[in-house]
Formats: sequence, structure tokens, C-alpha cells
Amino acid sequence: MPKIQILDQNTINKIAAGEVIERPASVVKELMENAIDAKASAITVEIRDGGISFIRVTDNGCGILADEIPMAFLRHSTSKIRTVEDLFLVSSLGFRGEALSSIAAVAQVEVITRTCGNLTGIRYQIEGGVEKGMEEIGAPEGTTFIVRNLFYNTPVRKKFLKTAMTEGAHVGDLVEKIALSHPEISVRFIQNNQNKLYTSGNHSLKDIIYTIYGREIAANLLPIQAGYEAISVNGFAGKPVIARNNRFFENYFINGRYIKSKIIGKAIEEAYRPFMMQHRYPFTLLHLQIEPELLDVNIHPTKMELRFQNGEAVFHAVQDAITKVLMHKELIPQVEPGTEKRNEKPSVPPRQQNKTKTPSFPEPFEKQRMLQWQETNSAGTGPERVAEETAGYCVKKIPEPVEKQISKPARQMDLFEERLLEPASRLRHKLIGQLFDTYWLVEFNDQLYIIDQHAAHEKVLYEQTMAALALRKQSGQIVDPPIILTLGGRESALFEKHRQVFRDMGFEIEHFGGREYAVRAVPDNLFSLAHRELLMEIMDGLSEDAAFAGSTMIYEKVASMSCKAAVKGNHSMSFPEADQLIDQLLKLENPYACPHGRPTIISMSKHDLEKKFKRIV
Ligand code: ADP
Ligand code: MG
Repeated sequence: MPKIQILDQNTINKIAAGEVIERPASVVKELMENAIDAKASAITVEIRDGGISFIRVTDNGCGILADEIPMAFLRHSTSKIRTVEDLFLVSSLGFRGEALSSIAAVAQVEVITRTCGNLTGIRYQIEGGVEKGMEEIGAPEGTTFIVRNLFYNTPVRKKFLKTAMTEGAHVGDLVEKIALSHPEISVRFIQNNQNKLYTSGNHSLKDIIYTIYGREIAANLLPIQAGYEAISVNGFAGKPVIARNNRFFENYFINGRYIKSKIIGKAIEEAYRPFMMQHRYPFTLLHLQIEPELLDVNIHPTKMELRFQNGEAVFHAVQDAITKVLMHKELIPQVEPGTEKRNEKPSVPPRQQNKTKTPSFPEPFEKQRMLQWQETNSAGTGPERVAEETAGYCVKKIPEPVEKQISKPARQMDLFEERLLEPASRLRHKLIGQLFDTYWLVEFNDQLYIIDQHAAHEKVLYEQTMAALALRKQSGQIVDPPIILTLGGRESALFEKHRQVFRDMGFEIEHFGGREYAVRAVPDNLFSLAHRELLMEIMDGLSEDAAFAGSTMIYEKVASMSCKAAVKGNHSMSFPEADQLIDQLLKLENPYACPHGRPTIISMSKHDLEKKFKRIV
């Protein structure tokens, strides 16, 4: 066993850096928080190469005194607390005194700073924890940190960094959050010499929301101002119409700090629950002020998670504040003007318009089926029409000639398929009816099949859409006027990366300025679904798996999202429609599960039933 030795300070700092500094975004976070603590009213963040090779954070705060600079880079050096007791009262953002020493341990750092009392400034350089120089120079009041080549001396850590695009997107997200958490500070973000964000520091949270999230969200906000004992809640609750399908838009800040808290997240979702569909998440931007004594901010080195002394009170305050504004508003969504005009085809799938139509009673349905079957094979127009009706927009699928279908070898299929799926057996399927507005019961031989109409519909549309998307390179249908989307940093980075895939599918999307993109054409089989929410949902869905999104995944996502949207709200289904749907479903290679993995068909045998009724033992 080698001799026990105490690690040198540099090694200790490198190890500690792992806790605080994980990626470029963590550096930016620490530097911005220091700038805020230094009472800056303007902060500029500039990165290149996702922040991996270059980060510059400039503030106009109080500056650092010359003789305190080297000290600031020592571990546990801080101007913000003096004793453990102070920990409980601290209202500044950082106080552990670890950030600068950690950053300097794993990068090449340069700081230029001037305090307001001094005529000249100081330039100080430190690399890998080793001081490289200090000189007097002319400088504006405030502090500039330049951090170069993060993890240059810890290659293992460097390997864990993602691509510059992903790291840059993380920095972008973080800068947005900090801008939102301090509307009184003007924040500028420059990425690869391009201006990505600018907030004016005019105190208006709504202006910043507009800048970051766009007009649609800014126009659908309900202001919140609520006070409780030791807690106040201010900010905005988004109307349910702007809900998303992920939690990225649930923003909340405590005492000016962006944090994550299960309690607050849950309180937000509880408040929205009566107004929201399942798996939809609201937009919120809440500023909570909580007496520092009730918080434990020292719980995690990167301070993203908080512990409350009275979690219940926090939960209640947030839920109550949101519930109150939601309850007092008329929240019925308005039809977007122009939606109808934009599409020649109605934007609502035709079948939804028939919603009130009572399903025709299944008289002798087998006969109907027969008739339809004959019609199909003689005229060839019947099923196309029905298919279009069923799908709302779906691709016209020309049925294979019956002879061909029947001649397919059925022997290799398993028992279940052989019986239910064989085209010839379709004629003997007895469609009994609909159960609970959702399930269709089919009797065939000695089995009862129960088909989930939503899952089935989704599956059919999905397969058709996938096939059509893959086939139709470059064919799009013009959307006029174009649909303007405001994408978040992550979304736009992802979109830029996969532009070509979208183009191949038939989308024509152009950069419109700032965060806005104009959708000028969509794949023609998605035309009737070309509305803002669906496109946003697709982008949202993609950004969840951001880094790993390959082109196939994008195809799948687009197909499955559009199918989900097409099926939504189609509750009633007539017998011919159901029959047609089952027809289409059973022709698929794998009809048993919807694109999201739920089963489409379950079955129960006559034998099972008889056993249940104890007719047989
Ligand atoms: P902490 O923020 O936890 O105190 P840091 O390592 O982040 O520890 O910073 C060490 C000290 O350096 C701070 O306490 C502060 O006094 C000083 N400092 C850092 N950044 C700035 C800045 N931008 N402006 C003024 N002072 C700064
Ligand atoms: Mg700090």
C-alpha cells in the first residue's frame, strides 16, 4: 500500500470543481450570479464553441479590489458570509466561495476588473489553479471574466461534454432563466458573434417573456400577485390554451434564483389539473419571495434544489395563487382567426364535425359489410371515401385486389392472426357495437375481440403517415399565410441541426428573425393538421430527446404526434367507419400495438366466458 499523503490544494480544487463545474453552463451560472451579487445592472455573456473554448461574462458591478483578487480564487473565500450563522440569513446567490477556485482549477481564466473608487483596473490571469500574472490596465468599471478551454487539464471530464451545439443550448437556456429571474438587469447573450438575447432591464417581466417565448405566450398570461404569511407569489400563469407537452415551461424562481423543487412543481400542476388534459403542462413564470430563514439553500453545491422548512405552506401558497387566477377567468379557448381560411380543407377532421350524429344502429351489420365489400371491389371508390373520412386527412390507400389478399399465405402466421387477420375471415367478423364510446366489440369464431378505437386509429394513421413521409421527398403544400412559430433555444438549435430532414418530409420552414420561424409549407398529408399547436408540439416533443434525435426519430415523432392530434377529439364513430378502421388495422404488419405501445386489440374466448359463468368447469 502506498504511503498516505495529504492532497495538494490544486488537486483538492480540481476534485471540488467536479461538484460545482460540470459544463460551460455551470461556469456561466456562477459568473452571472457573482455579477448579480455585485449589484450589476447589465451583464453580457458571450460564448464560442458552446462555451467549451471561450466564455466571457462582463458586468458593470462593484468590481473586485486589487488585493482581494488572488484571494477570491482561493477555495472558501467569499465576501458574502462570515460565520455559519450567516448561512441562514444570506440572500445573495452564492456564498460558498467555491466557484472561482473551481473554475480556475479546470480552465484558463482571465479577469479584468475595476472598482468604482479606483482610476485603473487590474488584469489577472490564472490557469489550472496557478497564478500567471497580474498587471494594472485601463478598464471600465465592473468585472469581466474570460474562461478559456474548459477542462483542458482534466481530459476525462472534457470527454463528458456534449457537442458544442448541445452545450451552447444549455448556456442559452440558463441565460434565459437568469434574465427572467432578474427583470431589473439588462442581459445580453452573444453566441458565435450572433446576438441571441437582449433584455432591457426595464423591470417588465412580460417584456422578457415576450422576447424569449414569443407573442403567443405573452398574449395568454394571467398576472398573479398574492401574499401569504412569509411567502409572496408574483408573476404570470399561462392560460391552459398555451399548455405544452413537457415541463420545460414551468418556471419558478425563489428569491431571484432559478431552482427546481418537486413541491412547487406539484403545486403548479395540482392547480392546473382541473383545466388541463393529462400529460399537458402549463406555462408559468412565478417569482416567490420566501423569508431566507425558511430555506436551506446550502443543500446542494450547484444550489439548484432547495429544502423548505415548511413545504406545506409553500405548496399551499403556490397552488392557491394559481387556482385563484384560473378560477376567475373565462378559459374557453378561442378559435384562432384565420385557421379556417388558411386551409382549403377544414382544419377540423371531417369526422369531428359529425360528432353529434348518432351512430346508426347496427341492424344486420354483416349484411352492410358484405355490401360494402362488394362496393369496394367493384367501384373502388367506396373505401377511399370512407378512409378519408375516418382519417380526417389520411393518405388515400388503394386497397389491394381481393384475389391478391386472399392468395397471401396464411399458414406461416400464428393462430390468432390466421383466424382474425385472414382477409377471408373479415367477411365473417361480426361487429357487435361500441362500448363506452371507445371500444368496438367484434365477434369472430369463438372469440370476442375488443378493439380500442383510439389506439387503432392512431396506429393506422401512424403507419400511413410514416409511409407517406418516407415516400414524398420534397412534396409540400403551401400554408398561406405562413404559421409563425417561436422556438426556444433548445428547439431552434435542434431544428437547425435537422433542417434537411424537415425539408425532405415536405416542410418549408424559414428563419423569420429572432426566435421566430415561418412555416410556409407542410407535408401535404399533414395539411389539414397544419396549425400552430401541432407544430409546436412536434418541436416540443423533439426537444425532449434533443441530443439523440436522428432523422428516423424525427419522422417517427412527426408521424406519431400528428396521429395523436388527428385522433384526439374523435369520439363518436359510426359503424361503417369503425368497420373501415378495423379493416385498415388488420392489414397492417403489426396491428397489435399503437405507436405509443398500447395494445390496440385484446380478446376473450367463449371458453373463458363460459368458465366465468360456470357453464363449464
Ligand atoms: P461566492 O460567490 O460563493 O462568494 P465565488 O468563488 O463565486 O464565491 O467568488 C468569490 C468572491 O469573489 C465573491 O465573494 C466576491 O467577493 C468576489 N467576486 C466574484 N465575482 C465578482 C464580480 N463579478 N464582481 C465583484 N466581485 C466578485
Ligand atoms: Mg459565487
